[in-house]
Amino acid sequence: MFLQQPSPTVRHRTGSTARTVVAAVVAVVVLLDVCGCRPPAAASAAPRPAPTSPTSHASLEPPREEVSPGPGDGPASDRVGALGVEDGRLPDGVTPVDTAYPAVANLDEHLRAALRRAAAAAADDGITVHLNSGWRSPAYQQHLLAEAVATYGSRREAARWVATPATSPHVSGDAVDVADLDATTWLSTHGARYGLCQVYANEPWHYELRPRAVDRGCPDQYADPSADPRMWG
Ligand SMILES: [Zn+2]
Repeated sequence: MFLQQPSPTVRHRTGSTARTVVAAVVAVVVLLDVCGCRPPAAASAAPRPAPTSPTSHASLEPPREEVSPGPGDGPASDRVGALGVEDGRLPDGVTPVDTAYPAVANLDEHLRAALRRAAAAAADDGITVHLNSGWRSPAYQQHLLAEAVATYGSRREAARWVATPATSPHVSGDAVDVADLDATTWLSTHGARYGLCQVYANEPWHYELRPRAVDRGCPDQYADPSADPRMWG
């Protein structure tokens, strides 16, 4: 859905076709998560399932079939292959309390607690906080990085969107990607109260814990991950 890249022959086309291709690539860039994950569901034409109760998955073994690519998913999902929920993949509809999923269970406990508090407050406003991604295995992150390099044509450009397994805050359990536009909008206004901050300007769905934000507000955002010193190691 969002990771298609122009074929070599497309690059030789001229005029409006070329401009259309450029526009499509720009749209892809806007939608792609830094961490290589899915864009907010609001950017997708596929309808979301009805919100689930906070404990809907808590006592269930994560069903592998739920993470199979759906009709709205694109070729990126098709290439995930053997990577599954044990690597941090998530089906739709997972919330911060669904610790049956390693993507949630392996998050830093303080981040997860902050997410739960924020999600409870958001629910009072009629908004459900679903997660597209949380903790990821190094193998999953490496897969996403390789995919981004193939998409963008260079490691330099891919670094603006996808971290390495050694530097990704997802691999360390210190980041989540929020699924829905209404939830990211809510967090952009209220997240700091819970220490939850958007870190990268190009990724409104990527949140990390910044405890000082409770008193001081969130720090300035990096333009993209390549400007984050943590990514330079
Ligand atoms: Zn992220």
